[in-house]
Amino acid sequence: MKRYDALKKIVESLTNEFIVCNLGAPSRELYNISDRDSNFYMLGSMGLVSSIALGVALAQPKQTIWCIDGDGSLLMNLGSLSTIANNSPNNLTLIVIDNSSYGSTGDQKTYTNGKTKLDIIAKGAGFESITIIDKEKDIIQNLKNLGTGYHFVLIRTQPGNAHVSNIPLLPEEIKTRFCKAMRNFRHLKKKI
Ligand SMILES: [Mg+2]
Repeated sequence: MKRYDALKKIVESLTNEFIVCNLGAPSRELYNISDRDSNFYMLGSMGLVSSIALGVALAQPKQTIWCIDGDGSLLMNLGSLSTIANNSPNNLTLIVIDNSSYGSTGDQKTYTNGKTKLDIIAKGAGFESITIIDKEKDIIQNLKNLGTGYHFVLIRTQPGNAHVSNIPLLPEEIKTRFCKAMRNFRHLKKKI
């Protein structure tokens, strides 16, 4: 399984979750698999997608946020794990696709290819649950079983990027439509 295969399964698992996605290849692949107004494609700011997702989760406690991060970027911002766990949002799952490489810059190996175990770091940081997934067929069931809380899901994949086009949206468009989708969803929920 490569990142692209994992992303397809994540998309198949979605109901009404909002996605905050890591920059570069992950966002491009997600856009090409299934673009939604409720996907936020981060541009720039490598390492900070989990911090941004935490901010969204705390500001919008009634909405469920799935953050899609990578091993290379999370390794740049490990403090975010402690910050998430100690703020204890009831609506945030951090899904890390660990391909043991810096996929967007040429597949240089990361330290998860060596001694570093992100699941153990996340457990030590205080996450409510830790799930490790190695098989594509296990992704949907595991994601659908997530309840409320702050969860850490590690999907281990092979390195390699899909050949997909760039995202033809301006940063402002990505932000504006994401915020609008959140507002619309809030109104919808109030009516139910
Ligand atoms: Mg990676």
